[in-house]
Amino acid sequence: MSPSITERYQHVKQRIQAACQQAHRPIESVSLLAVSKTKPIEAIQQLAKQGQTCFGENYVQEALLKIEQCPELEWHFIGPIQSNKTRAIAERFQWVHSVDRLKIAQRLSQQRPKNQKELQVLLEVNISEEASKSGFTPQTVLSIAPTIAALPNLKLRGLMAIPKKTEGFEAQRQSFAKMRHLLEQLNQQHPKWELDTLSMGMSADLEAAIMEGATIVRIGTDLFGARLAKKQCLKKKNQH
Ligand SMILES: *Cc1c(COP(=O)(O)O)cnc(C)c1O
Repeated sequence: MSPSITERYQHVKQRIQAACQQAHRPIESVSLLAVSKTKPIEAIQQLAKQGQTCFGENYVQEALLKIEQCPELEWHFIGPIQSNKTRAIAERFQWVHSVDRLKIAQRLSQQRPKNQKELQVLLEVNISEEASKSGFTPQTVLSIAPTIAALPNLKLRGLMAIPKKTEGFEAQRQSFAKMRHLLEQLNQQHPKWELDTLSMGMSADLEAAIMEGATIVRIGTDLFGARLAKKQCLKKKNQH
């Protein structure tokens, strides 16, 4: 029998705890973002009942339905951002991890409702410098960050990355270490910003990410089980 969501949740929390011990870091220094893309609202509610409060989504339309049903949870947008989706993101989410262009940051700032708390944002870094991936290069992050930090209605909190898939702890650590250095550089150049967030580490590499200072790990598969590809999901839905 496959493990229940409760068992999966306990297992992920144990992995995080063990990784914190290994890294000599307090357990409270790492928070778990449950990545619920393609997963049904019932799974989210089950996890929420266990005490999970922060959820990450990649697709705007899908996320809006879930947010409407669970407005008390904290919602993080972590997927690629199209310009025509920024308004919904600015209005409905508390965090955005995937700011990868200045124009997107400007739109989120303009469209964030004034009566809401500042939108908490991270700059996505293409840390493995892959042509196929979005994100700022490490150099561009250093040059663009002041412009983004100055935008009203946003609060720049730090950096996010999805490094190239690599096997082996030491190899995985290398990209995460680059992220840690980049955040340190930003904090040295702009101490007033007090950047405190490194969103990195997924099901396959959370231990290496925590060793290098991750403060948010984004976990999907290990919490909810494997995802169908998006196309397969749609097909499955249409069969009902
Ligand atoms: C899907 C996704 C995750 C979760 O990945 P798993 O390997 O399923 O844990 C994390 N971050 C981002 C940006 C994602 O798109």
